[in-house]
Amino acid sequence: MRVAIVGAGPAGFFLAERLLARAEPAVGVDLLERLPAPHGLVRFGVAPDHEKIKSVTRSFDAVASRPGFRYFGNVEFGAEVSLADLARHYHAVCFTTGAQTDRRMGIPGEDLAGSHSATEFVAWYNGHPRFRSLAFDLSAERVAVVGVGNVAVDVARMLCRTPAELAGTDVADYALDALRASRVREVWLLGRRGPVQAAFTAPEVKELGELEGCDVRAVPEEVVLDPLSRAELERADDRATRRKVELLQGYAARAPSGKPKLLTLRFLVSPVALEGDAAGRVRAITLVRNELVAGPGGVLAAVPTGRTERLPVELVFRSVGYRGVPLPDVPFDERLGIIPNAAGRVIDPHTLHPTPGLYVAGWIKRGPSGVIGTNKPDAAETADAMVADFEAGRLPAPAEPDPAAIERLLRERQPCLITFDDWKMLDRIESERGQASGRPRVKMTEQEILTKLGCT
Ligand code: NAP
Repeated sequence: MRVAIVGAGPAGFFLAERLLARAEPAVGVDLLERLPAPHGLVRFGVAPDHEKIKSVTRSFDAVASRPGFRYFGNVEFGAEVSLADLARHYHAVCFTTGAQTDRRMGIPGEDLAGSHSATEFVAWYNGHPRFRSLAFDLSAERVAVVGVGNVAVDVARMLCRTPAELAGTDVADYALDALRASRVREVWLLGRRGPVQAAFTAPEVKELGELEGCDVRAVPEEVVLDPLSRAELERADDRATRRKVELLQGYAARAPSGKPKLLTLRFLVSPVALEGDAAGRVRAITLVRNELVAGPGGVLAAVPTGRTERLPVELVFRSVGYRGVPLPDVPFDERLGIIPNAAGRVIDPHTLHPTPGLYVAGWIKRGPSGVIGTNKPDAAETADAMVADFEAGRLPAPAEPDPAAIERLLRERQPCLITFDDWKMLDRIESERGQASGRPRVKMTEQEILTKLGCT
């Protein structure tokens, strides 16, 4: 069975791992990636100061060393290679392209200068080649981060870390310089519901209390649980949520110790507008105070009370969730921002039946939820559906199954095709540069990579 996987992030590698672990049928897997470097969110999403999470790449290397695996980097689906091309060479094509853009707040002023998405900032500080030229005005002293998920926490932490803390990470060099020169002093994390409902997890909240150069606080009356939240917490009987609430209540009781920066966690407030100055730059965010009511299915929803407040800030990051983007010739559910599917089989929106040979895994399959490891069972489900379809004879036989034929085609379309051996050579260079400066790695730019490989 010949399989093409489009997108070399965690879901792509976990899918390859599952397919290649089988004795029968023998599977040949080609993993295609539009960027020169693999690893998707592990390289370009996971925060630089969360080095341990990145060790999962060792298991990706083990997958790549299995017979039957090939990596083709620097080749973009929809540009150098089309769905029709892949259908001619493979029994099955699986999209693992993640969620590459962000959701919006939908409020006036959202496009003012100084208002950005967290996805852009995260990709920028992680050296993503398509985001490295962005600029963030870190001469701002006050910053609001809208949303209280783990991405919002990453953004807040990166803004609050001291240069010394950042210097030992693999943050992009230009971002390290910009963050060193940062004048940010106050960061506000803004949650629209209460502490029980906040999407961030306890270990991430705990880490906020351990920052070297930043005090953390919460507003006492916002972390006192209302009767509905108390009931929700008791019903859930979930230790992790209890721990999270305790940590937040602890922060509300903490007196600032005089560290240079201050991070404030707010709850039950929604942004209603961004206010600009004469030059069109953000100068404040207007918040409305919410209360919680039981919505459909008992889920607690935030309802505005009408009481507003104005928070002076010069920089705003919205961190209200990622969103998938459509791919050429592939069905897309605009409402959910995913490829419509049933357990990984892509569904034709007209017939509502599976499209033979098309599959999805990861965030583009289920939406942007869970941690890196969540993609393992998710990819296994898709891999198993694919194999079951192959064994049942439901997959159309490709016209050109010879592995050499697709490689020839890709090299014609992209003379600078990057193999896994190329990547391992680049990986070694990045690690060696890191060792020389006490960092896990120093990331190469796309241009440096291409030059190193002799591509112009
Ligand atoms: P998320 O966990 O879905 O959090 C999104 C946050 O945005 C929620 O607090 C949500 O509040 C809020 N929100 C949505 N719409 C809003 C609006 N219009 N106004 C105000 N707030 C709004 O998404 P994420 O932080 O992007 O993370 C994505 C996934 O990656 C998550 O599963 C996360 O755990 C994972 N991740 C994990 C780590 C880690 O393990 N360290 C790091 C980063 C990311 P409501 O709940 O009220 O909707």
